[in-house]
Amino acid sequence: MKEWEKNFRRVVPYTPGEQPKNANVIKLNTNENPYPPSPKVMEALQAVSRDRLRLYPDPTASVLVNAIAARYEVEPECVFVGVGSDDVLAMAFMTFFQSAKPVFFPDITYSFYPVWADLFRVPYKKIPLAEDFSIRPQDYYPANGGVIFPNPNAPTSRYESLEVLEDILQHNQDVVVIIDEAYIDFAGPSALPLLKKYENLLIVQTFSKSRSMAGMRIGYAIGSPGLIKAMSDVKYSFNSYTMSQACLAMGTAAVEDEEYFQEMIRRIRRTRDMSGQRFKELGFSFPEPGANFIFVKHERSKARDLFALLRENNIFVRYFDQPRIDDYLRVTIGTDQQMDALFAFLKKHL
Ligand SMILES: *Cc1c(COP(=O)(O)O)cnc(C)c1O
Repeated sequence: MKEWEKNFRRVVPYTPGEQPKNANVIKLNTNENPYPPSPKVMEALQAVSRDRLRLYPDPTASVLVNAIAARYEVEPECVFVGVGSDDVLAMAFMTFFQSAKPVFFPDITYSFYPVWADLFRVPYKKIPLAEDFSIRPQDYYPANGGVIFPNPNAPTSRYESLEVLEDILQHNQDVVVIIDEAYIDFAGPSALPLLKKYENLLIVQTFSKSRSMAGMRIGYAIGSPGLIKAMSDVKYSFNSYTMSQACLAMGTAAVEDEEYFQEMIRRIRRTRDMSGQRFKELGFSFPEPGANFIFVKHERSKARDLFALLRENNIFVRYFDQPRIDDYLRVTIGTDQQMDALFAFLKKHL
């Protein structure tokens, strides 16, 4: 080892889902929305003047913050925006998880959490989900340095009720509790109403899934002004200009087109319901899906083999070679035609 290499920060990076170069694949592996964003998003991009690009963007991202605040009926002081929710979550780890006690998150969850914890040297403890992949609130009662989990959870797609969330919040009033609602628009009610009661709750959402803008990189957090101020201070100490002019304009247009958004959600939920039925008919079982993906297990076929077979035939789904879930495939809900192709293939090969 070179002498200077001893001074390197060493991390094992997060592995994102594959982005195949071939355009002919049926891509059901990274939970992207199969539909494009609102057409108003492109109009907004075209309206960004050349002269505007010469200038730095507004570091407070106020047009976008105000649009999100109006949509969710909160004060702008309660909104933080970032370059995808990955950026927002990384800032939140850096800001809120400074305790010597471990941060708690489920053993089966978004695999970025342990990566950030390692990067920022945050101690953590993985709390096993129950056999049915549900979160047991009492497991989160012991002393900890903070709590984070997605709802619906990934990759299980399971949605936990507000009662479960409130149970966890009631027993964790001295640490920051982060609920990652990346998929909430496809599920039941959001935990947003709980913000009125819990100043230590931070809710993180994204434009990448329900608003079809994974390529633009926009995420946000909603929480009490104290939490948002602390995160903003960290952000301004790191990189002030995270949201480009294009991003601000396009994101704002997306939030303002409520009708389009609701229609896309409705379509995906309908396709999800039909897909669940078809998976059952083919011998798959799965936890009740709350997100835009289904976490399926076949009664006979091995997930690893099925994953490889699908991939050879240009159908991409996600397989996690990890304890407890290596019998499962995570299948993103695509368009009706994409799902037809998937089921036609499965029917032939199972
Ligand atoms: C997709 C996802 C994110 C990150 O999304 P961004 O594209 O960075 O906004 C965060 N958390 C979970 C659980 C996700 O699935």
